[in-house]
Amino acid sequence: MFGRAPKKSNNTRYYEILGVSKNASQDDLKKAYKKAAIKNHPDKGGDPEKFKELAQAYEVLSDPEKREIYDQYGEDALKEGMGGGAGAHDPFDIFSSFFGGSPFGGGSSRGRRQRRGEDVVHPLKVSLEDLYLGTSKKLSLSRNVICSKCSGKGSKSGASMQCPGCQGSGMKVSIRHLGPSMIQQMQHPCNECKGTGETINDKDRCPQCKGEKVVPEKKVLEVFVEKGMQNGQKITFPGEADEAPDTVTGDIVFVLQQKDHSKFKRKGEDLFVEHTLSLTEALCGFQFVITHLDGRQLLIKSNPGEVVKPDSFKAINDEGMPLYQKPFMKGKMYIHFTVEFPDSLSPDQVKALEAILPPKPTSQLTDMELDECEETTLYDVNIEEELRRKQQAAHEAYDEDEDMPGGAQRVQCAQQ
Ligand SMILES: [Zn+2]
Ligand SMILES: [Zn+2]
Repeated sequence: MFGRAPKKSNNTRYYEILGVSKNASQDDLKKAYKKAAIKNHPDKGGDPEKFKELAQAYEVLSDPEKREIYDQYGEDALKEGMGGGAGAHDPFDIFSSFFGGSPFGGGSSRGRRQRRGEDVVHPLKVSLEDLYLGTSKKLSLSRNVICSKCSGKGSKSGASMQCPGCQGSGMKVSIRHLGPSMIQQMQHPCNECKGTGETINDKDRCPQCKGEKVVPEKKVLEVFVEKGMQNGQKITFPGEADEAPDTVTGDIVFVLQQKDHSKFKRKGEDLFVEHTLSLTEALCGFQFVITHLDGRQLLIKSNPGEVVKPDSFKAINDEGMPLYQKPFMKGKMYIHFTVEFPDSLSPDQVKALEAILPPKPTSQLTDMELDECEETTLYDVNIEEELRRKQQAAHEAYDEDEDMPGGAQRVQCAQQ
């Protein structure tokens, strides 16, 4: 029956949770669950985890087939999907199946299912300066809150009626005739009660929320962006999303989106900045100013006699980004140098340079040697572009030759 012999896992815990012996009868289980579930119901301030565990244990042990698997192989076997899985059902559904709703006199025929409301996620654009210095932003948001006048009942009296349009189910079925012997059934939320299954008498409607149970409220949230926070980091306001009756309110979550900076690029805790030097600066020294994210003017200068090579980096310690929650520690600032060479030189400039620069390598060719050489022409290339084109061409050739014997080998040879 099973694909492989399952390992034996814990097969006593469910009995312990319900506080019954391993040979408890169905009646014993029922009594034990009923007693413990009432005691631990979240509506009575019980622990929701414990309540869930009780339902899980009862669901398995009350089903003879599942109980047999459990006794034989333990919890893991059920989790692996044998016998339908453990804890597949809502603990509140299992509870309701016992009591047909709330046993605490809530009066609602629909039970007291605590759904979790949705989280509301907002992107929050911040500058690199904001993340360097830290900042706070006040944001005005509109959200639904439970109507204070009717405490979310929607009516003056607190009563609601079963919706006559859907008999309290919240759904309606409509039938369309597609032909003389063909019909189509469609289910959709009831329009009279907006899918809630309840209606409120027109005269009994709460004047503040007009029976909607919630009212919109403007709320100002102050978001603290701390020093060193990262792009994509979340700032959560628990339980500040839309309120709804019988619902655990979700969170408002702000997700930081760092705007590009005109000068600095951030990589983790480090900052990168580009700087272009003239050839004279690269050879004879330079001095320039970088304005930091906090407005400080950093003086950047070369050491006497130092030559900066093209495409080289230099770093300044402790001028990178502050570390999140350790803002007194900072990363590095890296400066990437590009050196601008002149496009051409006049014969006089060449002569002057040759006089001061180190001599050329001594490999002067004799006239006779030159006579034996062939003339060539040098032209400018964009080497990256050319290599990319060649690689693409090689790929296409490979694709064409793919199913020919030796095809791949031939391409490999050609590339060498
Ligand atoms: Zn309805
Ligand atoms: Zn109201």
